[in-house]
Amino acid sequence: MNKITLVVVDCQHDFVEGGSLEVKGGLAAVGHIRELLLSGKVGRVVFTQDWHPKDHCSFAGQGGPWPSHCVRGTRGANIHPDLLQAVRKMNIYAEFLHKGKDQDREEYTAFEHLHDYADYHAYRAASAKTKKPEVMAFGKKEPVVVCGIAGDVCVLNTLKSLRPMCPAVFTQGTASLDGGQALNDYIREEGLQVIE
Ligand SMILES: [Zn+2]
Repeated sequence: MNKITLVVVDCQHDFVEGGSLEVKGGLAAVGHIRELLLSGKVGRVVFTQDWHPKDHCSFAGQGGPWPSHCVRGTRGANIHPDLLQAVRKMNIYAEFLHKGKDQDREEYTAFEHLHDYADYHAYRAASAKTKKPEVMAFGKKEPVVVCGIAGDVCVLNTLKSLRPMCPAVFTQGTASLDGGQALNDYIREEGLQVIE
């Protein structure tokens, strides 16, 4: 069986217990993702990261809906070290995509601007304005599995943007602000595969 490509959404300190925008169950989700990484089933991992300037438009201080979180270069923006350690231990190929880098633009997915080719999907990610483009390509037969935080916000939007890949969802590796309702509804409506 082909090894899976695991997309790990925003498993950063600020989104787990103790962080500035903590999501209950975040640490438990990280623990389950770590187990999956150590299982030998993952061949490639793509980490997405909120990577905001300190005055990002989504912050309450700027009139946005969220408390300040994942300011680039701070501890809160770092990916949980248990996951990085598991990746290193298993020697898994890892890539990183930053999102929410422009002060005036919110991004709930790192996979915008799909370009469709015969053998693969290519996503041009993140800032179109100032940063160099980041391109992420997936083979059309590559089994993609999505997990991470928060299930009802960035995981949900990541799933929507990756929908042409028929992504599966590792639900144990998710934590949601709404208890999982929106994510489960989407999985059911779209008939997405769930992996345990
Ligand atoms: Zn954010």
